[in-house]
Amino acid sequence: MSNDWYSDFVNSGFGKSIAGTVGLPPVPRLRRYEPGQPLLSGAALLGTATAHGRVAKVVRSLLTDLGVEVHDDPQAPVGGGSSTSKVAAGIVDATGLSSPADLAEIQAFLTPVMRRVGPSGRILVIGDVPGEATSPSVRAARRALEGLVRSAAKEARYGATANLIHVADGAENDIESTLRFFLSSRSAFVDGQRLEVGTVPGFAGSSQGVDWDKPLAGRTAVVTGAARGIGATVAKTLRRDGATVICVDIPAAGDALARTANDVGGSALQLDITADHAPGTLLDHAQRHGGLDIVVHNAGITRDKLLANQDRDRWNSVIDVNLNAQLAINDALLASDVFHRGGRIVTVSSMAGIAGNRGQTAYGASKAGVIGMVDATAPLLVEKDATINAVAPGFIETAMTAAMPVGTREAGRRLSSMTQGGLPVDVAETIAWFAQGASYAVNGQVLRVDGQNYLGA
Ligand code: NAD
Repeated sequence: MSNDWYSDFVNSGFGKSIAGTVGLPPVPRLRRYEPGQPLLSGAALLGTATAHGRVAKVVRSLLTDLGVEVHDDPQAPVGGGSSTSKVAAGIVDATGLSSPADLAEIQAFLTPVMRRVGPSGRILVIGDVPGEATSPSVRAARRALEGLVRSAAKEARYGATANLIHVADGAENDIESTLRFFLSSRSAFVDGQRLEVGTVPGFAGSSQGVDWDKPLAGRTAVVTGAARGIGATVAKTLRRDGATVICVDIPAAGDALARTANDVGGSALQLDITADHAPGTLLDHAQRHGGLDIVVHNAGITRDKLLANQDRDRWNSVIDVNLNAQLAINDALLASDVFHRGGRIVTVSSMAGIAGNRGQTAYGASKAGVIGMVDATAPLLVEKDATINAVAPGFIETAMTAAMPVGTREAGRRLSSMTQGGLPVDVAETIAWFAQGASYAVNGQVLRVDGQNYLGA
């Protein structure tokens, strides 16, 4: 049993028949990642929009290397079944569009795909970066993909997702970790989103030789706010993927912090990240572990008040923990060799920082500020072959959301394409993917992990 009574009810034998009769919205059980799980649970359909596509070759080679059955014809019989049998994924190479007329090819491919994609299936559209086009017609066609994908995500059922990857010109061989993330069940709660894979000037990155079961092996990570909630799950997920984890939280959370550190076989560092000495203390501690490869800025607080009732102390405490502490730590990381070449910074923003939320002006400001920090820091990290990215969670099942009033909580869960809240592990999987060495071409991105929540922008 979860604490989502509605989901438990409509998924019970009795509830299913009532829900079917009176038309209650279903709550699909999402396929989530387990070590050793195959990338896809069945066949894939792979379409190309034009003769000039740049990525279909790369996608096909990845899937066939993994033993996935791949068909170009969206009506092909699969798995010894028929032309209507379910498939695990429909992928379109939509690069090379020259005008909106080319979109019709994508429609022709995706229409049968929408009927065939199975539970927790994946629809993935891969296009060119709109901003790289100067022609209005080409740019319109590229941008059109976003509206198509966001709408398809709202139509996809049974936990299937639809997402869009923009691949910069020249980055087509740098997309493996991104493909693996969006196709796998690690992205269970990422829906209706777009993300850009860029080129990395002067850096010949490669995914060759990566151990995809332990992609963080040999890396040392810091996770702030690791005593509980999302942070504790991030620590466990990074450990599962092979990292050594330093768990940070305030002294008052010392017991819970020690438990997380124990669970992950890592170390506990009691530290208030807003203290003036925090960046130095963090780096000194990391140096004793041989340096630092990954920093996850997860610690965060809410002090919700309507703006009309806000006061300066409350306001400052939110901005200090959620934003100023991260800025100070990043400055120290950039200036120090303790933070290794090829390092990864991942920060936790929020849907409230994108769409705003009543009663959360301070929180929304801090989480939008985090996105500005990512934008400006990304280019500064290029010379260290390092990256910074943000996750923006929506409604996640934690102690924080369990304490919400029933009406707000139900709206947060149900008004999304997934009709449910996400789990801390959904945020953690996204962070772990950003943290991979093989994600070297993903920099300056913000990815919502919110099941395409309708309350967001
Ligand atoms: P949580 O309150 O359960 O955990 C936050 C942790 O941060 C706590 O252990 C706390 O002690 C620690 N922390 C607070 N101030 C600190 C400081 N000064 N120094 C060190 N540690 C400090 O919260 P959560 O729900 O797990 O959220 C984790 C992150 O995700 C936060 O940044 C939050 O804003 C963000 N987020 C959560 C949700 C959600 O639905 N739960 C949605 C969007 C964003």
